[in-house]
Amino acid sequence: MDDTILNFIGGSYRQGSERKTFPNFNPATGEQIGLVQEASADDVADAVAAAKKALQGPWGKMTTAERVKLISAVATEIERRSDDFLEAEVADTGKPRGVASHIDIPRGAANFRMFADVISTIPGEAFTTDTPDGGQANNYTVRKPKGVIAVICPWNFPLLLMTWKVGPALACGNTVVVKPSEETPRTATLLGEVMNAVGMPEGVYNVVHGFGPNSAGEFLTSNSEVDAITFTGETGTGQAIMQKAAMGVRDVSFELGGKNPAIVFADADLDKAVEGLSRAVFLNTGQVCLGTERVYVERPIYEEFVERLAAAGKGFKPGVIDDPTYLGPLISAEHRDKVLGYYSRAVDEGATVVTGGGVPKVENAQADGFFVEPTVWTGLSHDSTVMREEIFGPCCGVIPFDAEDEVIALANDSPYGLCASIWTENMSRGHRVAASMDVGVCWVNSWFLRDLRTAFGGSGHSGIGREGGVHSLEFYTELTNICVKL
Ligand code: NAD
Repeated sequence: MDDTILNFIGGSYRQGSERKTFPNFNPATGEQIGLVQEASADDVADAVAAAKKALQGPWGKMTTAERVKLISAVATEIERRSDDFLEAEVADTGKPRGVASHIDIPRGAANFRMFADVISTIPGEAFTTDTPDGGQANNYTVRKPKGVIAVICPWNFPLLLMTWKVGPALACGNTVVVKPSEETPRTATLLGEVMNAVGMPEGVYNVVHGFGPNSAGEFLTSNSEVDAITFTGETGTGQAIMQKAAMGVRDVSFELGGKNPAIVFADADLDKAVEGLSRAVFLNTGQVCLGTERVYVERPIYEEFVERLAAAGKGFKPGVIDDPTYLGPLISAEHRDKVLGYYSRAVDEGATVVTGGGVPKVENAQADGFFVEPTVWTGLSHDSTVMREEIFGPCCGVIPFDAEDEVIALANDSPYGLCASIWTENMSRGHRVAASMDVGVCWVNSWFLRDLRTAFGGSGHSGIGREGGVHSLEFYTELTNICVKL
């Protein structure tokens, strides 16, 4: 793998004009594996200018069918080069190959294919209006691209979350400037090669590397030629970006943090609930925005559930990379410190550590990786910091409950509102409780079961707007209503 990671601007790979670099680490080994060229303010301005220019060039003049053909070709090329994408994603994140090969990379391709389908089949809107003179008028809407979209991404599912935004943005005829996370620059960079290989016009897809404040992220959101900003990341970062978006009254779409609850009723199929929630808590080492960190269990099955979830947690092997039960590292030493801070805080707040709670002993090439133990706590109060703040690690607190109303109130008592899961064999209750959750996405007897056509996003501190299927089109297009007097 080439270990200098470049910006991709106007169809060409470039160093940063100030020749500044920052290191890229493999979190599974703690080793520096490359250098990333940081984009300067001028580089970001160049990328935005390239994106703006592309709107006036062949891309802006293409028919929907021509655009769809190119976007479908991007999906096919990602699939053809899936091994390269897999290597890049595993190097940046240290995540198990099985996770990247089943989730990250195929979803990266699917995000282009699905939005190519959506844009090909979207119906328009039309109304016939009675007019005061006794005649009629016909109204219909025309969808136009918004223009240059800034796409700012996190590190937990780098290709997947980036293409989730780039796919619909391009399908709608926009151009993009992507700012990947500083932790995971590789797959966004590689996608530039794919764009060139399929003949995407230059400037349609651009990538600038760097950090947030006073770096590429802020340079991008402050650029007045950017027409809209789509962002996935922490709630606090969303607030900072929103202030920049206010300059020029630009639209935002935000997918932010969460503190997602699960509710397990006594009549749940316990095998399914334990299997589903062990993924919800531990998958991707808990670095999943949809992950579960609060589990409320009805008292008659509480003890058994805790024992079985803890056993499932113990079944993951942090650091044992060749084992099918390998649990990957956290993304960085800094993030590990943050998660371990919550591990000790939990004990200070009265938790019983049922399993985990520390750093595993790892004796192989991964000895310096950023691993933590999968952790389950009991005995925490619903109001404790550990049960209220997003940790983003492989851990959860389990709390017993006695009544449906009580648990609905507990689950909803959070400033976040991303997702929830309900586990019960009583479907009447399943529907009722799911509808009472103040979240953007609620699963019953499953978790992370995604249909890309459905609305995705969060309420409260978890986001603004919904993306997915036709919902993405609301953000990535402007509607013009045309009224014709007959
Ligand atoms: P982050 O907010 O720290 O960083 C995300 C991106 O924003 C990075 O590219 C970063 O460089 C950039 N950035 C930071 N400050 C900026 C600024 N002032 N201006 C412009 N850009 C700036 O988030 P993270 O740590 O990379 O990701 C983890 C967070 O993402 C968690 O809170 C998680 O819940 C959230 N997340 C949410 C979803 C969702 O769909 N709701 C999905 C994945 C992750």
